[in-house]
Amino acid sequence: MSYTVMNFAVPKSKLSYKIAAAIAGNLGKPSKMPGFTYGISAKLCKIGAKLAKIPGSVCFDCYALKANYQYPSVTKAHDKRERSLSSISWVDSMITLIEKTKNPYFRWHDAGDIQNFQHLLDIVRIADSLPGVRFWLPTREKALILKYRDTFGDFPANLCVRLSAAMVDAKPLAGFENTSTVHANANPCGNECIAYKQGNKCLDCRACWDKTIQNISYRKH
Ligand code: SF4
Repeated sequence: MSYTVMNFAVPKSKLSYKIAAAIAGNLGKPSKMPGFTYGISAKLCKIGAKLAKIPGSVCFDCYALKANYQYPSVTKAHDKRERSLSSISWVDSMITLIEKTKNPYFRWHDAGDIQNFQHLLDIVRIADSLPGVRFWLPTREKALILKYRDTFGDFPANLCVRLSAAMVDAKPLAGFENTSTVHANANPCGNECIAYKQGNKCLDCRACWDKTIQNISYRKH
């Protein structure tokens, strides 16, 4: 299957898994998490790229810029997904891929972040189309989240957008329903991620997807 299908508005009824994957790329399945993910290169992060140069920021020494994420097979997959974001069939392709997993949990971006406002709107459209799936979107893109809220109000009930604090040991960002922080020397704020106590796995925990939990604090590793 060539990339050329990416350039056409493929009818939803014709989007088999194979065609959807040819357009949007494959989903990821990290061993830590209960569900599937989608990733693009962390080099494309807008705010994250600036933070990555600042010692003490949560993006400094980013795992997604290290060796495992620089293998040719990984960078090729990231490139394909990044190109697909502008495809007119990206939203329908993602819906098809996520539906086929039959998994009720999905995490946006095991690497990378929202690229622009349309990207965020497309992620919302996907959540609206799959009410049986709970989506978790961690992001540093505060301006895009504010723009969405000012324009459209609340995010869908099944999309938990967590705005991340920029610096390690910082307090959660004020004024947002759901946030995340990273602690190293300070005490965890709110709900501490327990993955480090259970072999770096979520197991039964689904706190990141739970909108009733305001802040998740991840231990710096
Ligand atoms: S808080 Fe829970 S769901 Fe989130 S990463 Fe940690 S273990 Fe997984």
